[in-house]
Amino acid sequence: MSTRVAEVFETMEYGPAPESRAPVDAWLQARSGRFGHVIDGAYRTPAGGEYLEVMNPASGTLLAHVAQGDEADVAAAVEAARRAQPGWAALGGHARARHLYAIARRIQKQARFFSVLESLDNGKPIREARDIDIPLVARHFYHHAGWAQLMESELPDAEPLGVVGQIIPWNFPLLMLAWKIAPAIAMGNAVVLKPAEYTPLTALYFAELCAEAGLPPGVVNIVTGDGRTGAALVEHPDVDKIAFTGSTEVGRIIRRALAGTGKRLSLELGGKSPFVVFDDADLDSVVEGVVDAIWFNQGQVCCAGSRILAHEGIADRLVGKLRARMEKLRVGDPLDKGVDIGAIVAPVQLERIRSLVETGEAEGATLWQPSWSCPTEGWFYPPTLLTDVAPAATVAQVEIFGPVVVLMTFRTPDEAVELANNTRYGLAASVWTESVNLALDIAPRIKAGTVWVNCTNVFDAASEFGGYRESGFGREGGREGLWEYVRSIHEPRGEPARAVTRDGASDAAGDGAKPDEAGARTGSAFDGGPAGRAKAGPPPIDRTAKLYIGGKQARPDQGYSFDVRAPDGTVVGQASRGNRKDLRNAVEAAHRAVDWGRGIAHTRAQVLYYLAENLHARADEFARRLQRLGATEAEAAREVDASVRRIFTYAAWADKWDGAVHHTPFRNVTIAMPEPIGVFGVVCPEEAPLLGFVSTAIPPLALGNSVVAVPSERAPLAATDLYQVLETSDVPAGALNIVTGPRAELAPVLADHDDVDALWYFGSARGSAEVEEKSAANMKRTWVSHGARRDWYDARVAEGPSFLRRATELKNIWVPYGE
Ligand code: ADP
Repeated sequence: MSTRVAEVFETMEYGPAPESRAPVDAWLQARSGRFGHVIDGAYRTPAGGEYLEVMNPASGTLLAHVAQGDEADVAAAVEAARRAQPGWAALGGHARARHLYAIARRIQKQARFFSVLESLDNGKPIREARDIDIPLVARHFYHHAGWAQLMESELPDAEPLGVVGQIIPWNFPLLMLAWKIAPAIAMGNAVVLKPAEYTPLTALYFAELCAEAGLPPGVVNIVTGDGRTGAALVEHPDVDKIAFTGSTEVGRIIRRALAGTGKRLSLELGGKSPFVVFDDADLDSVVEGVVDAIWFNQGQVCCAGSRILAHEGIADRLVGKLRARMEKLRVGDPLDKGVDIGAIVAPVQLERIRSLVETGEAEGATLWQPSWSCPTEGWFYPPTLLTDVAPAATVAQVEIFGPVVVLMTFRTPDEAVELANNTRYGLAASVWTESVNLALDIAPRIKAGTVWVNCTNVFDAASEFGGYRESGFGREGGREGLWEYVRSIHEPRGEPARAVTRDGASDAAGDGAKPDEAGARTGSAFDGGPAGRAKAGPPPIDRTAKLYIGGKQARPDQGYSFDVRAPDGTVVGQASRGNRKDLRNAVEAAHRAVDWGRGIAHTRAQVLYYLAENLHARADEFARRLQRLGATEAEAAREVDASVRRIFTYAAWADKWDGAVHHTPFRNVTIAMPEPIGVFGVVCPEEAPLLGFVSTAIPPLALGNSVVAVPSERAPLAATDLYQVLETSDVPAGALNIVTGPRAELAPVLADHDDVDALWYFGSARGSAEVEEKSAANMKRTWVSHGARRDWYDARVAEGPSFLRRATELKNIWVPYGE
């Protein structure tokens, strides 16, 4: 020992503390550094014979070669999964639970190996792989072993989807694998997972471990390769669902590719998460929070707190403390246990970080970096702080995915919320204040799936994770995450408009194309068509029903109307033909009605009970209207009665669609809270014109969304008659807007609209495809029927939690306790 203890005390330098990589090297050597895919429980050489290089980012040297998967490889893996899935599901929840438990145990036993392999492959500090990633991986398998055990009792009407394709990124290779595979196989699906091209090694070792643990072959298949392999998986016709984590850009490509195919999709995409610091926050904790927010995993974290929003009174002090802390961070060999920041995954990523920081400086930002320099071997970037950043600057808006944080200031809590929400994303946020009142006031107002109070980047299998807006949709973890991998046995299935196509383009012309809806285009009623029209005599014509926008009846922009006919062709009235401009007005009115969602659930319940009561008072009038539109007397009475009941159901739910407090293994209250999504478009079903309308427009309304509804095209008068009921009820202006007209024209406008946050579409398969395709622009959540008809009298498919779940988005708020 050349260094004396006394000298160490003097300098307080860290000595090297390397973790040994020997076991990993032995594993790589035993496989000659060359890996095939894992299909049906065994390594398989790639059909095309092509391999990719896998590098160690800390040294820039070669670690191994892995197969580049092509269509044939993907097809073989999907076939293996398809063969294995029925048997796996048939094992039952308890047997699957034991398999997941066995996997969890083995992960724990191999934790050290996994940590070293992950660190070598990804460049992340061994401390993080060892203390965060791998324990969480094991936790996910334990937690979901439990869900497998409980599936039959807790999700009684659920069945697995079948074969699930899963595509994951390189920032948390094994953890993302666990988030994807654990819930999928717990629920009885078989999977084909494609790891990221930079970091495939822990997935391969995991597949070996599954085989050792006795998992039936074909339940978990790993196909390696780059984006082309991912695209082949997305495009494979026999995959029932794609679960993707990665960039918003690729997420959008996948959304379009799957539009109209009837395949399920969940997307966990990018973020630009705000890190809000109020003036009463404990600044020393805040500094450690920033370290965890943006210098954890080199900032290559989709939910990284990459935008510090600091109260202007404390901003300078915070910058001073951050600069001092940055100076002390240690960047270097990821396998050194004393290292805080490891290597950037690949040279292209390093280049992207450099160029974005340059853009930041060119746009006027001030750059702060430590005085020391990074190792030159391998791919490293120093911790970086940018101040003097304008909210619209590139570095304030674009996800950098590196150890770079920007700092902006605010004056008031309202301004903080506005800045926090000034982003296309909505993945996570963290809020720092000693005031619990302030924290819990701010947390619901930030559009983000996870809000951490006085902490950041904490995760757990029991707590759902996922985004709003362009951060994607779907939740991973918790009970909510299970819904991504099951379907209700009662849910009617449509006939999707098309198979998946390579360019993702849809040829859908919208509604109208389906025979059952063709009549709607001519304005004829239920059975419609020219024969019907020929019979039209000179009947008594009602006045033209207007649109209902912002709490008022409104004339349509162009002043056009269309005939509404009975099945025998008789004209029974006229409805307004709404257009793009009318919808825009309706969406604006809906945005102005934000107080409806922020208000108290009890009030919403009361408003809806009153609405139902008013409908009931006019039951005869509505029944007569339905009769004129073609229903028999008994059918009409039944539909009105069912509609009153349905509104009552949602009035009942309005103050009961509660959240939960999760048992996360920290000193923490983790509140899972369903929230309204925002402005909702609803294209209502053609059938059951009154009951279909209330069954689809009322659930989002009940839970605090503002709704723009397009009623049945053939029989809109059942909905337009509601205007008077709405006017005499207390539904606030703009909370429910109704635009009548041709669905084939109106649905695409809603699907395209950037300020519509969610869209339900009950209609033709082709219309469904078009809605899904167009929704990719702002990543709005969609729910489409693919032409399936639903029995609106059957409560199992026409009301309840499956509607409520889709009318809300789950937010998890983490509040630590204790000193
Ligand atoms: P990141 O910025 O995290 O690398 P990407 O979205 O590029 O995000 O990559 C995430 C995953 O998606 C990787 O596994 C990558 O290979 C895969 N991928 C890239 N392009 C496509 C594509 N067109 N279709 C399917 N998967 C893709």
